[in-house]
Amino acid sequence: MARYTDAVCRLCRREGLKLFLKGSRCYSKKCSFEKRPTPPGQHGVRRRKVGDYGLQLREKQKVRRVYGVLEKQFRNYFIEATHQPGVTGESLLRYLELRLDNVVFRLGYAPSRAAARQLVTHGHFAVNGVPTNIPSYSLKVGDRVEVRESHKERELFKTVKETLRGHQAPDWLSLDAAKMSGSVLAEPRRDQMPLEFNEQLVVEYYSR
Ligand code: SF4
Repeated sequence: MARYTDAVCRLCRREGLKLFLKGSRCYSKKCSFEKRPTPPGQHGVRRRKVGDYGLQLREKQKVRRVYGVLEKQFRNYFIEATHQPGVTGESLLRYLELRLDNVVFRLGYAPSRAAARQLVTHGHFAVNGVPTNIPSYSLKVGDRVEVRESHKERELFKTVKETLRGHQAPDWLSLDAAKMSGSVLAEPRRDQMPLEFNEQLVVEYYSR
């Protein structure tokens, strides 16, 4: 299973904004972007003119990096999205939001999508009672995501349980902190996806 393994803070500096890829560190003074907001590399501080293509590319990379998806899979989501009724950019974001690792993150089990992905790959979760360790697993309305019964008593989840009690899940998800279980109530609408993406630029990038 391929994944990005280089320093993730470089990605924030590359995109010129905080992508919040590292959990609590992103909210602390240790955040690399706060210390050095210039693009990485020897010529990072050089001023460059950015054309239409550059804008589209940067937006596509930003969305892809926030959700931790590699190019091939991201393109496949885009192709799927073009076959959906409605606005393509919104369908693309919906696919990304309904990934199992993203839902685990949104439910508050982990401070970042990367950490949520690790919890999933380590086999801690079940979907509708079936153990599932595939981060890209696509959830549907009505699906139940819960910590596997045999894992609930582990030290890790004792801490997580406390965190969940104070967590506010988005409206399209429900969370039962005591049972460490959540469900997909509806597909997320665009206004329920908090990040400031210009998904139209992503659509333009792939439609060239
Ligand atoms: Fe980005 Fe978080 Fe690293 Fe800051 S700490 S640069 S927000 S990943």
